[in-house]
Amino acid sequence: MSKVRVRFAPSPTGPLHIGGVRTALYNYLYAKKHGGDFILRIEDTDQTRFVEGAEDYVLDALEWCGLTPDESPRVGGEYGPYRQSERKASYAQFAEQLIASGNAYYAFDTLDELNALRKQYEAEKKTFSYDSSNRDTLNNSLTLSKDEIDAKLSEGENYVIRLLVPANEEVKFTDEIRGSVSVQTNTMDDKVIFKSDGMPTYHLANVVDDYAMKITHVIRGEEWLPSAPLHVLLYRFLGWEDAMPSFSHLPLILKPDGPGKLSKRDGDRLGFPVFPLEWKDPKSGDISTGYKEEGYFPDAFVNMLAFLGWNPGTEQEIFSIKELIAAFSLDRVGKAGAKFDPDKARLFNQEYLKAKSGSQLAEFIGDSSFDFNLLTLVCNQMKERVTFAKDIPNAGSYFFTAPTSYDEKMVKKKWKEKSPSIVTDLVSVFGGVAAFNSEALEIAFKKYVEDNELGFGIAMVAIRLTITGVGGGPNLFEIMEIIGKEESLSRMKKGIEVLG
Ligand code: GLU
Repeated sequence: MSKVRVRFAPSPTGPLHIGGVRTALYNYLYAKKHGGDFILRIEDTDQTRFVEGAEDYVLDALEWCGLTPDESPRVGGEYGPYRQSERKASYAQFAEQLIASGNAYYAFDTLDELNALRKQYEAEKKTFSYDSSNRDTLNNSLTLSKDEIDAKLSEGENYVIRLLVPANEEVKFTDEIRGSVSVQTNTMDDKVIFKSDGMPTYHLANVVDDYAMKITHVIRGEEWLPSAPLHVLLYRFLGWEDAMPSFSHLPLILKPDGPGKLSKRDGDRLGFPVFPLEWKDPKSGDISTGYKEEGYFPDAFVNMLAFLGWNPGTEQEIFSIKELIAAFSLDRVGKAGAKFDPDKARLFNQEYLKAKSGSQLAEFIGDSSFDFNLLTLVCNQMKERVTFAKDIPNAGSYFFTAPTSYDEKMVKKKWKEKSPSIVTDLVSVFGGVAAFNSEALEIAFKKYVEDNELGFGIAMVAIRLTITGVGGGPNLFEIMEIIGKEESLSRMKKGIEVLG
């Protein structure tokens, strides 16, 4: 069998939506599982929709996710160029070949003529489509004489080239996810495949490039399923049927709270990003946050995305990229849309957070205003208590600085009459332990509480309030060990003063 080659083929029309990243991910997993190549091709034939910065965004996003393509406009490759605008010269010959073989034709209908037809159809409660039912009556090379056609072409009249979709046929192909698909050609229109500006449209360019780049598997979003029969016809008409890739159309990613495709608006409405990285719209200047900026780990983000449409068939949910590669298969990708769940996304991040070491987290936070070793210790203490690593310094601020205020509610509820004397006693108890570490502090504390027949809770909360200013947090004696003897005792004394 030939080497597996898959491609992710976005159009640079804006930032990559997480649905696009999921498509890239499944392509990547499939390629790596089968020892194949993962290719990025930029489909920029429609210059009117080109958005500045979108191509770099796609490449940066894939790199952040760890899904770096083997071939791309950034790194090149043997099958380049990887931007369709740079392959422009290669498409015309195939459009011409299709005309010569009778599978395509020139159409000279002007926009005004087509609009008039559309209106006329609408008036009759029908929808106009340029197809086998009416092409013999329209302004094209099927109805014009050879002289008329030559004259129009040599005068430089605007035209498009349309694929001649045969009438009354079934186009059949197998979709790896959906099984056998069969489409009646009478429901298809004669799509434009080439324009007089010398640019192919998506359909022709996509098929020509998949063939030229030796793509073996097309794995793409469900929205392209209606185009697949047309692509099958193109392979047949170009004589490339034997090299036709297999098709897999991935299920949609749905809104968390209703029917329909997940959109940026849903993210804005419900407070979660739909883009992997921050995107600044070059026209409006509007900034949309990304998963990266929200504080997600790329591996958690990728793990979460993998489950939007695929499942391993077991209870396991946490998968490293290596494990995903090993477990992934297209036959475990579902047909039904996958509901996006922002809470689940956060849970994935939390699981990854818990599994990372303190120093990994400190490195990820990457804030040099903190002492690295101290931050590492704090991360170890706080990682069970936050969703995002970046929240650790703030959630554990008392590791770095003494509290300047004390949680009022907690003080009202838990700071009792006896509290000042308990804290005063414990200043000398803790001051007297041989080594100021959490075990010794805990033993001394327990002994003091028992000897004085005190409630465990009241003493513990009193110390915690003076040390941290709040009522909850990681093990109090660990906190004291980390901030050290001098700081602990001084905070306790200050607490007595302030709280009285
Ligand atoms: N350029 C298309 C897109 O923007 C590619 C579809 C395909 O993969 O064939 O998604």
